[in-house]
Order: sequence, then C-alpha cells, then structure tokens
Amino acid sequence: MSMKTTPYWWEDEPREAASKIAPPAKVDVAIVGAGYTGLSAALVLARSGLSVAVFEAGQLGEGASSRNGGMVGPSFHKLGIAGLKAQYGVDKTNEILKESVGFVDFLEDFLKTEKIDADFKRTGRFLGALKPAHYDTMAAGLEDLQTACGVKGEMVTNSALESETGSAKFFGGLVFHQDGGLHPAKYHSGLVAKVREAGVVILDHTPVGKVEKMAAGLILTTPNGQTTADKVAICTNGYTGSAFKEFKRRILPLRSAIIATEPLAPEVMKRLMPKHRMQGDSRRLFAYYRPSPDGSRILFGGRATGLKDAPNKNAALLHRSMCEIYPELNTTKISHVWSGLVAYTFDHSPHIGKIGDLHFAMGYCGSGVARSTYFGTKLGHKILGQEELGHTSFDEMPLKGKPFYNGSPWFMPAVLSWHRAADRLGL
Ligand SMILES: Cc1cc2nc3c(=O)[nH]c(=O)nc-3n(C[C@H](O)[C@H](O)[C@H](O)COP(=O)(O)OP(=O)(O)OC[C@H]3O[C@@H](n4cnc5c(N)ncnc54)[C@H](O)[C@@H]3O)c2cc1C
Repeated sequence: MSMKTTPYWWEDEPREAASKIAPPAKVDVAIVGAGYTGLSAALVLARSGLSVAVFEAGQLGEGASSRNGGMVGPSFHKLGIAGLKAQYGVDKTNEILKESVGFVDFLEDFLKTEKIDADFKRTGRFLGALKPAHYDTMAAGLEDLQTACGVKGEMVTNSALESETGSAKFFGGLVFHQDGGLHPAKYHSGLVAKVREAGVVILDHTPVGKVEKMAAGLILTTPNGQTTADKVAICTNGYTGSAFKEFKRRILPLRSAIIATEPLAPEVMKRLMPKHRMQGDSRRLFAYYRPSPDGSRILFGGRATGLKDAPNKNAALLHRSMCEIYPELNTTKISHVWSGLVAYTFDHSPHIGKIGDLHFAMGYCGSGVARSTYFGTKLGHKILGQEELGHTSFDEMPLKGKPFYNGSPWFMPAVLSWHRAADRLGL
C-alpha cells in the first residue's frame, strides 16, 4: 500500500522546525514532556508568575498529543462501576464518576476561554452492539451511569439504527450525548501558542537524561546543557523512558494506531456516519472511529500489532477491522497510517501526585485528550500548593507497579492476540 506514515492531522498542522533553544540555567519549575499534560500544567504555573521551562525529547507534538483520534469523552473508569466500588467503595466511586462526567465540559470551557480553534464539536458518541447480549450489557451500564453521575445517553434500538450508522452489523447501540471530537494537532498547536504567550520556554529536541537533587535544587541534564529547577514535573505518559525508572516501572506503554481513508463520496459518508458522531463498538479489542473534522473521510483506530511501529501491518489490521464494520469499504484506499504510545496502569486509573521529589500526572489508559488537560491543570495547581484548586477524587490513589515488572510489557502482544482471537470467535 502506498500511504503516508505520518498523522493525517499533520497535513493541516505541520510540525515546527527544531528551535535549537539552549536550556535556561535556572527556572522555578521544569516540566518534562510537551504534550497536553505538560503544557496545561505549564500554563497554570506561568500565569501565576513562576518561570517555567518545558523539555521535549522530540519535535513538538512528538507524543500522543498530536497523533490521537481526537475523540473526547468522560472516559469513565475502565474498571466499570462494579470494579470501582470493589476497589474504592461506593462514596469514592460516585466522586470519581461525577468528576469524570465533567471532563468534557472542562475541555470545552478551556478551549472557549483560551480561544483555541481546534474544530471541537459536541457530536456525541455512538457505540454499536454486535450481539443482543452486548446491547443488554450496554443498557444496564448506561442505567448505572445515569444513576451514579447523570450521564446523558440513550439506547438506540435496532429499528432506529439507520439514523446512527450505515453498518448493518449492529443489533442496536448506545449514544453518549456529552462526547465530542476535535482536531488533536490543532489543539496541541493552540496550546503551545498559549503557553509561549504566558512566557514559558519550550525546548524541543531536548531529552532530559536525568534529574538529580543537589544543594542548589533539582538539576536536569540534557545533551544541550543543564537546568536547575526548584520543582520538576514528569508528564511523559506512554513515552516514559529509562531516565525515570520509578515511573517507567509503573506504566504499561501500549501502541495505538490509526488509518485515514482516502476521501469518500459525500453520499457514502452521509450513509455510514449520518450524524458525524465519534464511534466505537462492542468488540473486546476496542476500535474507535470517526469522520475527519471536514467530514470527507473516515479515521479508524485501534490497538497496533505490536509495541514497535509497523505501519504496513497496522494498516492491514485496521483496514480489516474497519471492513468488519463497513464491508463496503473493502476496496477503499488508505491515505495515512500512524501510531503512538498510550499509558495504561495496573489499576486502570489515571494518576496524579508526587514520587520522591518529582511531581507527575499520567496513565490515562488510552483516553487522555480531556483527561490530560484536566490533570495537567490540576497538577499546575498542586505544584503551586493550591490545595483546593488542585484537589481531585483521584488523589490518594498511589501509582503502583507490579513485582518483576520493569516497564517492558513483553506479555501484552500475547494478551492482545487472545482478545483478537476471542473477537473472531465471537466469545
Ligand atoms: C494513536 C492514538 C490515539 C488516541 N486516541 C485518543 C482519543 O481518541 N481520545 C482520547 O481521549 N485519547 C486518545 N489517545 C490518548 C491521548 O492522546 C493521550 O492520553 C494524551 O495525549 C496524553 O498526553 P500527555 O501530554 O500526557 O502525553 P504525550 O502527548 O504522549 O506527551 C509526552 C511527551 O513526553 C516526551 N518525553 C518523554 N520522555 C522525555 C524525556 N526524557 N525528556 C523530554 N521529553 C520526554 C515525549 O516525547 C512526548 O512528546 C490516543 C493516543 C494515541 C497514541
């Protein structure tokens, strides 16, 4: 297949050339990672009058923040309500769900207040049920969520399906009305501009190799020089490397990939995605799909074939997965395929806090567009010591690793293959 292996999003928002800025000798706060988390934290800190430098190992938007699917939702906890209650009790569960249902409002307000044009739209999200039993599970789940946190959603019966999807594969489905979509790279560029306006120095192509505590403060070492900071925040999510072993051994990096189809005829788009919603379905190995913001093509994402980037294999896998839902796209060409790393955690929860001298927020488990903005902002307030503004129901949930796990999830390809096989067998 002849296709580009860079994100479709970068056609509208090409990456910036390397800036070659030298690290400042001293700042109040140094942030490692220039994705949504690090940039959101930097904005809060700089606007409170602190000097801030953000260090980015690659080009700006190298990580997940300019590569993702741009699908925005409350990202309810992956444990589900029953799992949450078993782990944290009823009160904490309700707190977590009520806070999560506000993530999209938070992001929408943020985009409006900051005047960032990222093509954000409250499209709603449609989830198709591939079996009657899946439909029943969705209905029960929706009812529980409505009771716990007032989420706005409705079931779509078989007879109403045509108004939601052109796929004949579903028995029914569920629509979450609060969800939406945006252009992730436009959002990232908009955030970079705001952060710079606030006086933050952003250093691209400047990987932080280590952070050491000395009498003068925390010393960050990079190939381009050193910076001394009073405080340091690690915002490296799925890209957390060996420089930060204490974080790496608590995070499961997983690769997620997306394909973009070539432009489709307007009548095909209208039939397949009549309401321009974000979409997914009830397969074990979750696939996420959506129309491009201009409505001209389909972007279809899911788990990649392995931990390393393998564009051809990923394109073939995702094309197959897309055709399981929309068989008529069998001969449709793929214009782009790309991938990036997301960060799972062993308790399926995002985390924010401090380990040793290092502040952090990470572990969005693949749903981080709204979460990372929200947690990055909270992180900024926490670093400033603003307890009330920094508070979240995710506080006091320690980020834990597992014995013998060192940060390489060698077992994940086997786990994913099992889920793929189970989907094929209809288990
Ligand atoms: C293909 C894909 C699709 C996705 N789709 C969705 C979606 O539709 N909806 C959704 O909600 N979420 C989605 N996500 C997840 C979402 O994009 C992430 O959760 C979010 O962008 C995380 O932001 P972040 O700032 O924490 O991390 P990132 O944006 O990953 O940024 C971390 C940065 O840290 C840098 N870094 C690492 N180590 C160092 C170092 N030592 N020194 C300096 N810099 C360093 C990296 O280069 C990287 O740029 C998707 C992710 C991927 C990869």
